[in-house]
Amino acid sequence: MVSGKEVSIARLRYIDDMPEAPDLEVIKDYLNAELKHAQVESCQVLRPTVIRSLAAEVTADLPGRTFLDAQRRGKFLTLRFSGGRSLVINPMLTGALQHCRESERVQKKTCLALGLGGSMALRYLDDRQIGKVYYIRNGEDDSEPQDDLVPQYTGLGPDVLSYISFEEFQARLKKFNGEIKGVLTRGAFLSGIGNAYSDEILFAAGISPFKKCKALKPDELQALHTQCRQVLEEATETLRTRMGSDIHKKVRDFLKVHNKGGQPCPECGGNITQLKANQRITSYCRNCQPGFLTRN
Ligand SMILES: [Zn+2]
Repeated sequence: MVSGKEVSIARLRYIDDMPEAPDLEVIKDYLNAELKHAQVESCQVLRPTVIRSLAAEVTADLPGRTFLDAQRRGKFLTLRFSGGRSLVINPMLTGALQHCRESERVQKKTCLALGLGGSMALRYLDDRQIGKVYYIRNGEDDSEPQDDLVPQYTGLGPDVLSYISFEEFQARLKKFNGEIKGVLTRGAFLSGIGNAYSDEILFAAGISPFKKCKALKPDELQALHTQCRQVLEEATETLRTRMGSDIHKKVRDFLKVHNKGGQPCPECGGNITQLKANQRITSYCRNCQPGFLTRN
């Protein structure tokens, strides 16, 4: 029998698996290298709650089409197929892609399974089934594109791994209120940052996660602008060497503060503070990221 506390910690770990820009960037490059010209031979929906067939019924319409490429925007991954079709994936909290042999055991959390040539398979897994996979027309077959039917997709801010000038960064941030961590993770300011990497960015910039974005000083804004891109670029390079073909697994053990509550801070040696609120973990160092300990 597990206590309520243990259950809640287990659930938090679960939720903290959310793929962010670095994970999805490496997965995108992996798919572009491995799936080139692959033909979809079969398509099976095992858990229909996550699938939105907007162009046509995906099980009937996708087989026979060729994989063209994968693209990423924020925390969305788009797989493009011949004849003007795309699968737009919003993995949310626990969605993941698995590329494996077709003979490999189908995990219980598999929602969508594509059979590809050469006895390989591409599967979308989702433990909690909160993520979504949209099958849309992308406009490349001269029909009306359906991107605007994908919730949150068109309102995304610039991708965190793209170049954003300091002036643009400042101007965009002016439109937001509230604590900086919340603004970083929402996707309307910059897209691609989630719970784990927002903690890493704020640690690298020396800013408390609870600081109001209107209260950030010029040097803090400069540091934040630099670290948003730098921390995520470095993480992408680390993941590129660590993830291999196990694209469905999250590698997070190299992070400096996130989910390391109670462990020594790599900068000052003090204990890393960890709070759990709104079903998510916030980890930071009170010495290196000074500010209020609790929310106002
Ligand atoms: Zn510290």
